[in-house]
Amino acid sequence: MITRQFGIPVTSPGAILRREKDLGTPLGLETAEITQRGDLVSDKIIIGLIEDWLRLHGGHGFVFDGFPRTLPQAESLQSILTRLHTSLDLAIWLEVSEETVRARISGRLQCRSCGFTTSVTSAKFAERPVCPYCDGPLVRRNDDDISVLQTRLREFNTKTQPLADFYGKISILRRVDGNRDREAVFSDISRLIEEKVPA
Ligand SMILES: [Zn+2]
Repeated sequence: MITRQFGIPVTSPGAILRREKDLGTPLGLETAEITQRGDLVSDKIIIGLIEDWLRLHGGHGFVFDGFPRTLPQAESLQSILTRLHTSLDLAIWLEVSEETVRARISGRLQCRSCGFTTSVTSAKFAERPVCPYCDGPLVRRNDDDISVLQTRLREFNTKTQPLADFYGKISILRRVDGNRDREAVFSDISRLIEEKVPA
């Protein structure tokens, strides 16, 4: 949506890794293997890919979605940006309560075949739980997700939370209430970006 509205390229580590895999690069195949095992791709690889992407696409503005997630990643990003003679204008902190996260996860339907996810509140799918992409069965995620959630929340509190201070100190942090519907959240994000985009 950001790309469509502002013409600014958006990426995330996940998107970059998927593209590497689709292109069949050695790194793409290696990292696909790592994620398939359920392991995390190392910061060193992620940071390298982000730098390559920035050199190719970041000349006229860029947005990272879900990156950086840790202090070491944020510090590496700062050094890359310094090397490229650019800097961040804005860090949007999407605040979502634990309650909202739980509600969204328990209301989530996932295609057993291709992994497409939607929510039970999307009436279209609640009525006929079939995947729009591959006709696979849409099922509720199971209890495993709750233990995964606990781990993620712990990781968020220890590893990601410190970023609020990091970006607060350089005065680019803006908080957005993420406990509302998509439209309300996106309209706030749009307004923040608009203030930074030269007319
Ligand atoms: Zn599917």
